[in-house]
Amino acid sequence: MSNIDIYLQYGISSDIAEDLLSKKLRISTIRKTSIKKLITNFNISENIARFIKIAVVRKKIDENTIYQLLNRNSYICCCCQGYKNKNYIIHHIIEYSKSQDNTYDNLAVLCPSCHDIAHSTHQYSLTMKLTSDQIRKSKYEWELAVEKNKVDKSSMNLDIYDADYINIKRIDELAYKLFNQTNNIQISKYLIDDKIINENGEYIYKNREITINHIESGDLINHYSNIFKHIISYFSPSIVNLDDIINKEIYNKTNYMCYYVGGLYGRSLEGNCTLLHFSRRKYVFNWILDNNYIISNTSAMRMKQRSIYIVYGIIRSVDYDEEKEQHIVDLRPYFIGMPTATINRTPKIRYIHNFIEKDDDR
Ligand SMILES: [Zn+2]
Repeated sequence: MSNIDIYLQYGISSDIAEDLLSKKLRISTIRKTSIKKLITNFNISENIARFIKIAVVRKKIDENTIYQLLNRNSYICCCCQGYKNKNYIIHHIIEYSKSQDNTYDNLAVLCPSCHDIAHSTHQYSLTMKLTSDQIRKSKYEWELAVEKNKVDKSSMNLDIYDADYINIKRIDELAYKLFNQTNNIQISKYLIDDKIINENGEYIYKNREITINHIESGDLINHYSNIFKHIISYFSPSIVNLDDIINKEIYNKTNYMCYYVGGLYGRSLEGNCTLLHFSRRKYVFNWILDNNYIISNTSAMRMKQRSIYIVYGIIRSVDYDEEKEQHIVDLRPYFIGMPTATINRTPKIRYIHNFIEKDDDR
C-alpha cells in the first residue's frame, strides 16, 4: 500500500495527501494537532485544515477496498473520466456522516472538482449537483469501460496464463501464409532436436509421446504462443472483439481475426471433438475444437470449474437460421486460454456430453 493510500482511507484526496506527506504530517499527527497549528505551522489553508481534522477521526476504509476501487477505476474520476482533474478522492455515495458505510458499493472514485459538486449545497444550482444515483451510474459505466479496455489491451498482447487449446496445424498454415516461414521466430532448440518441429518451426506429425512431454514442459506451448503473438500483431488493429461487432453487421466480417473473452458452453462431439459455443442476442457463436491438436490436460477440469476463457479465431461464415431467427457464426479456433484480464458479465462455462456430426474443416 502506497503512503498516499493511507490518506485515501480517510477520504482525503490524492493531491492533499501528497502535500501532507511532503510536510510529514501523518494521520496520528493530524489528530493531535489543532486546526490553528495546522494553518500556522504547516501552511495549510483553513478549509483544508477543517476538512482533514474531521476526516482523520472517521473509521478508515479497508485497504483492499481502496485498492480494488482504484484499480477498477484506473485511478480516474468516474464522473468526468479525468477531464476536469487528474487527482482523485474516495467519495462516500451516501455521505459518511449519515451512513458510516465504508463498503465498496457506497464508495466511488471522484476528482476533487466533481467531489465538490457532489457535496455542494448552495454554491451551485441544483441542476449542477451530482446526485448519488448519477454517481452510481457513472461508477458502473466507467468500471465497465475500464475493464473492457484492460481486456482489449491484454488480448492484443496474448496475456494469458494457461493455454488450453492451440490449433497447431492452422497456426503453421497461417504463419506460413503471412510470413512465408516461421523461422524469424525464436525456436526452442530442443523442439528441433527431438523432431517435434522442423527448421522452419512447423510441427511434425509423429511421435505423440515426445510431443506430450513437450506440451507438459511448456516448450511447445511457448513456441506456438510466440508464433501466435506475431500473427495477432500482424492482424492488429483490425482484429475484432466479438462483443463489439454483434451490433455491427457481423456477416460482413468473414475471414476477420477475432477474439472473445467470457464464459462458454461446451459439449463433446463425435470423433474426439469438442464444441464450444455461446449466444448473445440474435447470434450463436460456435467453435469446434479438434482434440488431436494441443489441448492441455487441465482444460477439462477448468471447464467443470466454469472458467472464463479467451478464444482467438477467424470468422469463417455467418448463416441465418430463419426458423430460430438467429445468426449462426462459425469460427475457426486458433488459440484458447485463461485471460489475465476479464470482464464480469458473461454466463459461465457448462460442459455437457452430447454428440453431433463431425466437420472436417476446423
Ligand atoms: Zn471528475
